[in-house]
Amino acid sequence: VATGAVALSLAACSTATTSGTGSTTAAIADCNVGISMPTRSLERWINDGEGLKTKLEGAGCTVDLQYADNKTDQQISQIQNQVAGGAKILVVAAIDGKVLAPALADAKKQDATVIAYDRLINGTADVDYYATFDNYKVGQLQGQFIEKELGLKDGKGPFNLEPFAGSPDDNNAKFFFSGAWDVLLPYVESGKLVVPSGKAPKTNDAWTTIGIQGWASDKAQAEMDNRLSSFYGNGAKVNVVLSPNDSLAVGIEASLKSAGYTAGTDYPIITGQDADKANVKAILAGTQSMTVWKDTRTLGAQVFTMIQSIAAGTTVEVNDTKTYDNGKKVVPSYLLAPEVVTKDLVQTKLIDSGFIKASDVGL
Ligand code: BGC
Repeated sequence: VATGAVALSLAACSTATTSGTGSTTAAIADCNVGISMPTRSLERWINDGEGLKTKLEGAGCTVDLQYADNKTDQQISQIQNQVAGGAKILVVAAIDGKVLAPALADAKKQDATVIAYDRLINGTADVDYYATFDNYKVGQLQGQFIEKELGLKDGKGPFNLEPFAGSPDDNNAKFFFSGAWDVLLPYVESGKLVVPSGKAPKTNDAWTTIGIQGWASDKAQAEMDNRLSSFYGNGAKVNVVLSPNDSLAVGIEASLKSAGYTAGTDYPIITGQDADKANVKAILAGTQSMTVWKDTRTLGAQVFTMIQSIAAGTTVEVNDTKTYDNGKKVVPSYLLAPEVVTKDLVQTKLIDSGFIKASDVGL
């Protein structure tokens, strides 16, 4: 395994440093890490990148953190620069999981260890580990939330549903959709959920037909505008929207508002993911029903632990060795558990844990 060479060159050292948070962490010797994140336009990636950088620097690592403005070419050249700069560990949240193979092959020439962060990297054996949240579970939580809120198990319905999916180039998006659709499709087939726009994939694999490129809020808004104006004449109302994440929910909510939907009266159930501040505010205001919270601090902590193990030459802990086949190998993965946050859980889950401040969401 190529990681062996890295382990030798990164022998753990016994000194300790104090990290930015004041906690003491054992230093990692000869630790040069490149972190490549997709975009600063979404809050979560800023938290992810800055959080991990701070932790690693606290352990004495040299860290190059780059954001690629959601542009694949930019991400490739940033990774190439990190490799040229001697990175021994790469942590990559891919924009397009299918195009990074050549850049990672270069990284392997200098025995770097590659950790896919949050999103799997496909079509290359040059990815060593994957750390993420259980992506299927994220979608399943959204589907089950809808099922419960509408009383579908009790035979209630029919309800009008509009489903959305994430960016077609993001490997996570198909897992999110599959998790949700495995719960919801049976109700679509039985007629308890009706999709007036007709945008109801017949199988999980057809999810890209309703995928929103780049996870863009404005594209989701335009799509929802189009569905509302074309398929909801004569007083018909949307009862529920499956939104895979918060950035899509922002656009969908803007569209619903401009079409006159009001919280507390005719507003549909709408799902999300990430617990972005704007969406937590929407949850408090009743214009979003839930978000699937992924505590990015725990993902950063897991990746930090992985890097410590790699550096010390000890076994890297994983808890899934069968789900994430990238076409060249099944990538050993560590999956964390996502959680549902509704209005009544904002305080206990998000604020009390320090994930967001009360003042960030107007409390
Ligand atoms: C992440 C989500 C995020 C989305 C858009 C996905 O790969 O898992 O947390 O909302 O990308 O950035």
